[in-house]
Amino acid sequence: MTAQHIINSLEFARKKLEIHGTIENSQLLRARDLMSSHAGIIEWTLSGSVGLDGKSKLTLLIKGVAQMPCQRCLDSVSVDLNLKSEFILVRDESEIPSEDDEVDEYDYLVADAEMDVLALVEDEVLLTLPYAPKHSVEDCSIKSEQLETKAPNPFAALRDFKVVKK
Ligand SMILES: [Zn+2]
Repeated sequence: MTAQHIINSLEFARKKLEIHGTIENSQLLRARDLMSSHAGIIEWTLSGSVGLDGKSKLTLLIKGVAQMPCQRCLDSVSVDLNLKSEFILVRDESEIPSEDDEVDEYDYLVADAEMDVLALVEDEVLLTLPYAPKHSVEDCSIKSEQLETKAPNPFAALRDFKVVKK
């Protein structure tokens, strides 16, 4: 059993608090379906801050490794989870800028008096796991040449065309 980590996100940021913990991959109930093995553990650190602009922010650091099935050979491939996510807390959804104005390096979170930190950790893990993980060609037991179809090179046709024109 992992202790639940519920925080008041706005208060956490304003008081510049920091917490850290670990969660086993097997406890990531949504992400584990994508993994080929549930072994491993993820370390996380959440810290609060207030920017010079007066905005309350949360920074989440995640470190771990996940095993996922390679899309070529179906053996396990290790995926490094090493990420840093920054969130600006807003009072409600109306304060979230539209896609166009959004600053890329930040995400927005609606302030929550009972925010589940582990759910946030899992959300970020889910966003980071690759859609189609693969070994590098050298490490994969199936060599990519075996799977690649011999598609005609479009430039070859262009070359022929030029020859004809002459
Ligand atoms: Zn592979």
